[in-house]
Amino acid sequence: MADLVARARTGDVRAVARLISLVEQDSPALREVAAALVGLSGRAHVIGITGAPGVGKSTSTSALVGVLRAEGKRVGVLAVDPSSPFSGGALLGDRVRMGEHASDDGVYIRSMASRGHLGGLSAAVPQALRVLDAAGGFDVVLIETVGVGQAEFEIASLADTTVLILAPGLGDGIQAAKAGILEVADIFVVNKADRDGADQAARDLRQMQALGAGSAWRAPILKTVASRGEGAAELAGALAEHHGWLASSAILHERRRLRSAAEIEAIALNQVRRRFDRVAGSAALQQAARRVVAGELDPYAAADELLAAAAEGFASESQSDPALTAATGNDFQLR
Ligand code: GDP
Repeated sequence: MADLVARARTGDVRAVARLISLVEQDSPALREVAAALVGLSGRAHVIGITGAPGVGKSTSTSALVGVLRAEGKRVGVLAVDPSSPFSGGALLGDRVRMGEHASDDGVYIRSMASRGHLGGLSAAVPQALRVLDAAGGFDVVLIETVGVGQAEFEIASLADTTVLILAPGLGDGIQAAKAGILEVADIFVVNKADRDGADQAARDLRQMQALGAGSAWRAPILKTVASRGEGAAELAGALAEHHGWLASSAILHERRRLRSAAEIEAIALNQVRRRFDRVAGSAALQQAARRVVAGELDPYAAADELLAAAAEGFASESQSDPALTAATGNDFQLR
């Protein structure tokens, strides 16, 4: 692992890819990776890009990557599809639209699907971010996700800067964007400004913004034509400005603290869940159920017994080599 991390740190993109695969597989080796990365993270500007399907997220991301590359920045892109099963990165595949950057080794593009992963985005994405930031050494990491369900809020909680993309005529942009996301977006982009309705969409946004609670940062509203690269430089400028503003206030630190708290929670709950599954998967749960049916035990007491048994597993696990235990860890026995 140390060797893999060292290779990733020299800019070896294949080593970075291997590390992200470990994240996707929820590998026990991640412990060692995380330990090797202590003190190295926090350099990259993490940018979340969200919006309804078809608004132009991929096209905008690709245009933005072009501008950032021209500035000499190394860019990592995580395309997260919260509605797809966790697939080992093959699902969204090579993303034809990002094809223009495929041969550029200053750009690393990876698709991740998150359904089925314990804890979803909150467990896997922060770890992938950590790998790209600390091991990959990217200056900017873009996380692109479809704005469905909770995903856009999760992205906002993971990113330093959140960009919400809207497009005229697509589900009436603003009504489609849930009220909450308007508050967490740091930059609004009305894409497809070559179409009718873009000015109206921008005006509506401005009006909603005027109604909302004022905050120290006033989210700019940009109009772009991503398919022609128009407005991408302005978007890069707004992103840099927001990053500068974050860095000069305590907010950057605060956002990263919240991100770490969410990551720790996801890892801890994941472990509890795994431990519990081992107990519940054994005959113990069925036996407890029989005792409840027989009227010997109430279900709360039964749950307490199972949790206590799982906790005992924790105690014995932490006394031995954690990587080893995790690798061979189905040896748990209930008394
Ligand atoms: P995503 O689903 O949000 O990632 O959207 P895509 O980037 O895949 O774009 C959806 C469609 O809109 C594609 O056919 C793009 O070529 C097209 N598109 C993207 N940006 C623009 C734009 O600025 N103007 C127009 N007219 N079409 C665009």
